[in-house]
Amino acid sequence: MAYQTINPYTNEVLHTYPNATDAELESALATGDALYHTWRNETPASRQPVLHQLATLMREQKRELATTITKEMGKLLPEAEAEVDLCADIAEYYAQHGAEFLKPTPLPTELGDAYYVKQAMGVLVMVEPWNFPYYQIMRVFAPNYIVGNPMILKHASSTPACAQAFADLVLKAGAPQGALTNLYINYQQVGQAIADPRVAGVALTGSERGGAAVAQEAGAALKQSTMELGGNDAFLVLDDADMDQVKAIAPQARLFNAGQVCSASKRFIVTAKHYDEFVAYLKAEFAKMRPGDPMAPETTLAPLSSASAKTKLVAQIDAAIKAGAKRIIGDTPVDLPGQFVPATILTDIDKNNPAFDQEMFGPVAAVYRVANDEEAIALANDSSFGLGSAVFSSDPEHAKAVAEQIEAGMTTINRAWITAPELPFGGVKHSGYGRELYKLGLNAFVNNHMVLAT
Ligand code: NDP
Repeated sequence: MAYQTINPYTNEVLHTYPNATDAELESALATGDALYHTWRNETPASRQPVLHQLATLMREQKRELATTITKEMGKLLPEAEAEVDLCADIAEYYAQHGAEFLKPTPLPTELGDAYYVKQAMGVLVMVEPWNFPYYQIMRVFAPNYIVGNPMILKHASSTPACAQAFADLVLKAGAPQGALTNLYINYQQVGQAIADPRVAGVALTGSERGGAAVAQEAGAALKQSTMELGGNDAFLVLDDADMDQVKAIAPQARLFNAGQVCSASKRFIVTAKHYDEFVAYLKAEFAKMRPGDPMAPETTLAPLSSASAKTKLVAQIDAAIKAGAKRIIGDTPVDLPGQFVPATILTDIDKNNPAFDQEMFGPVAAVYRVANDEEAIALANDSSFGLGSAVFSSDPEHAKAVAEQIEAGMTTINRAWITAPELPFGGVKHSGYGRELYKLGLNAFVNNHMVLAT
């Protein structure tokens, strides 16, 4: 496994990075552990200024930071800029609210004066993916910085420049050495780090395969972990949906970031009343997508992040069609050298089709026809995943009643998937466990320390 920056639009290898040595890992663990012990004597509030400054620097350097993303994993430049803004918002949110969230909580008891306080636990390992190369780091970094858990980052081997840019910015914002150390380590070294007594836990965002491997290592070492894994999110269009609203939202709910979003809408479950109209509309919108240079303002469809991502997705589409799915649009390959997959719609996916319960990480929408709410809910829940979902209905009470029956960590009503600092993010089933963002994002790696004075 080589850490390399390869531009997925030009296929040019821009840089290769040397793997970290065991000595570098040891040094990062020692520095992080020393910092943990220093931080134990300081208050969460004392760490707020660094997060404020990080937000400021990110906003100031937005264009440059976004360009690094686009060159390295191919997303459209405006989407990369929006990611930088979101990261700044998350840093700012924990700077403003983090210390308050960590205040001791009184415990009513007749046994005396009792309370619990959320305390740091030690060095964390953070294993992150390439699809939102800064946001994925920030979701873990900002809350744990306030808590006082130093972090070691193992980023995706395809986004090493983003990893280092983030770590450099953290230092520039005034964080001490060891607060976030980026290391180009291999899987075995990740395992070594997790097993190390100085490490308190591991947070991973990525695939089920990666998540299961790392969760197993955490379990074997009795370490806490959070897993933010894939999704196959349902987008329910009910009989009483406002179709203008549905149409305004559906295409980008699938195609944002070239479809490489864990919580993107991937399965469009539409009642018979709206099915034909919906498919025709989505087809027309997908046909308008313009593949091209992700740096260019006229481009609306970016390449996938890597050659392997394209190979995997094309194989999934081919297997789905072989098993009986119909391709409504997307059968003309993009005539460009980059890692493009055309915006694709698949219908007629039955339960025996491998695509039925697979996450397709790219611009591929699966559309299903159902008779009524009951069928829509049953189909939405007939998935091994349970990350997000969306419900469209012009009756808010009806929409909420349906939303609450969906087995997912997040459901939006009459809008696409969304992430914001103040909204908890995470899933159930094979989409993983634990929540990030909001005050729940501070809970993953804290010692809820009970103190009782009689
Ligand atoms: P991976 O799970 O392989 O990668 C995510 C991160 O985990 C990377 O840093 C990767 O390192 C690391 N990793 C993977 N396996 C191990 C292991 N055994 N030990 C230590 N670290 C590990 O996802 P991919 O990038 O391969 O993407 C594959 C699929 O995962 C996608 O098609 C999509 O379905 C899903 N995915 C979901 C995401 C989400 O946001 N939920 C984000 C990205 C992917 P390295 O890069 O070096 O392999």
